[in-house]
Amino acid sequence: MPTPNPPSAGAVRRITVLSGGVGGARFLQGLLHGLRNGLVPGGTAETEVTVVANTADDWWIHGLKVCPDLDTVMYTLGDGIDHERGWGRREETWSAKTELEAYGVEPTWFGLGDRDIATHLVRTQMLEAGYTLSQVTEALCRRWQPGVRLLPMSDDRVETHIAVADPDSPSGRRVVHFQEYWVRMHAAVPAEAVLVVGQDQATPAPGVLEAISEADLVVLPPSNPVVSVGTILGVPGVREALRSTPAPVVGLSPIVGGDHVRGMAAQVLAAIGVEVSAAAVGLHLGARSAGGVLDGWLVDERDADQVAVLEAAGLRARAVPLMMTDHDATAAMAAAAVALAREPRPA
Ligand code: GDP
Ligand code: CA
Repeated sequence: MPTPNPPSAGAVRRITVLSGGVGGARFLQGLLHGLRNGLVPGGTAETEVTVVANTADDWWIHGLKVCPDLDTVMYTLGDGIDHERGWGRREETWSAKTELEAYGVEPTWFGLGDRDIATHLVRTQMLEAGYTLSQVTEALCRRWQPGVRLLPMSDDRVETHIAVADPDSPSGRRVVHFQEYWVRMHAAVPAEAVLVVGQDQATPAPGVLEAISEADLVVLPPSNPVVSVGTILGVPGVREALRSTPAPVVGLSPIVGGDHVRGMAAQVLAAIGVEVSAAAVGLHLGARSAGGVLDGWLVDERDADQVAVLEAAGLRARAVPLMMTDHDATAAMAAAAVALAREPRPA
């Protein structure tokens, strides 16, 4: 077990964040805001932020490769996001979707906006020309200038599928792609199991393991702990990199007051048998001193009564406001994460 080495008085030059879509992107906005405005201890506008994004939500639709979490991070940080929806392009139009519906082409429930389609066309053409997803992402980011280095967790195809009850099927269940569970079914039926297809054979994308081992700090933002952070950790080699990095690893709970703030973390936590609480998610990720991946875990003030159980399990834990209501509030969360990482370890 390596000794976490908080750069106590020193500068925080490199931060690596393992991110899903909307929650991760909002956190990153606050982190960058904090770094640029001197709100993060040890950090400056020059601090390099690397984002390892979940790609297990990706899928092919209408012949296009769509990468929701990569695009949500890229559009959010590149100021192209639709703020109300939280995903997709601002000032979007939907002519292509309407025309596809007029042809009766399924599925009609997945929203592909016209502006967004341009991104997927560029990506799909480049993939078909033989570029890797990492190379494609780098090319797309040349336009969006997100202010971070954005890496897919893997260049290999990895897809989350969800098993749901289906009385009409001989097995009593049916397996659907994550997008069908979330977008078509609104996660309104219980998830019975989470299957991450292709994960065992996947390798981390170039730069991912180095971003973890060479960082001054690794952060797990408030992202879905199963289908975003969980799928990144499941790429062979990533968990080991987190366990062995000299950098402190801290996370922020996506569960506040016993519920997810938005999304469907509660449904997928239930599917893997983890209680929907800030403490249970922290313990599920686990203390590095006890075989897990975390040194520290922030919970919301409402969950302050859970700090003791986390600390007893070897996790440094603090209760602070964890609602990403605006950039300042989110920057304060990022600052609290860095401060937690820099706390001297108990003797
Ligand atoms: P997704 O890809 O759109 O699912 O987004 P993420 O994987 O990044 O995670 C969204 C998760 O972040 C949700 O499941 C929520 O539990 C959590 N979340 C969203 N907003 C907030 C917030 O303001 N505060 C906290 N603590 N968690 C949040
Ligand atoms: Ca996602």
